[in-house]
Amino acid sequence: MDIFIAPLKFYSNVLLQNLIKELSKRFSSSIHVVDIRLNIDNFFSIDRKQYFSTQIIAEVMKLTDQYNGKIILLTDVDLFVPALTFIFGEAQLNGKHSILSVCRLHEIFYSGISNENLLLERTIKETLHELGHNYGLRHCIDWDCVMHASHGIEEVDIKGITYCNKCRTKVEGYK
Ligand SMILES: [Zn+2]
Ligand SMILES: [Zn+2]
Repeated sequence: MDIFIAPLKFYSNVLLQNLIKELSKRFSSSIHVVDIRLNIDNFFSIDRKQYFSTQIIAEVMKLTDQYNGKIILLTDVDLFVPALTFIFGEAQLNGKHSILSVCRLHEIFYSGISNENLLLERTIKETLHELGHNYGLRHCIDWDCVMHASHGIEEVDIKGITYCNKCRTKVEGYK
């Protein structure tokens, strides 16, 4: 099954190319970049200054029947769901769609100093994490596993960059 990356308001082509390179090393599945024509401005909350991820996914579902595989939306904008102050990403458990924001994966967001290697590492972790949910994985208690929950950036940095042996078996095409 193929993996489709759909940039939506995503502006770092270097990061995108590096992510594709890294995913290609890890998956036997083909990785494609697809252009989904969707204006997400309707899902922007003026009060929160963030975008409502669940609504974006719902809209994208209507536009992606032709893609046979997993679709991960990649964005620079900050995401929310009503119960939380922010989210790094959201995925359909055992589904086809997920969304990941790199807004809060940028080190400059925290320390004011940019760190491109750290950004790539965090982006790989969270991409694998959201894809893991698509393949039916729930959160894992193993800190070495990328399926460990991350509520803040420290937890993203602490956890491992691959699946544990138990989780790995569920992820189709993972080497
Ligand atoms: Zn999760
Ligand atoms: Zn695990």
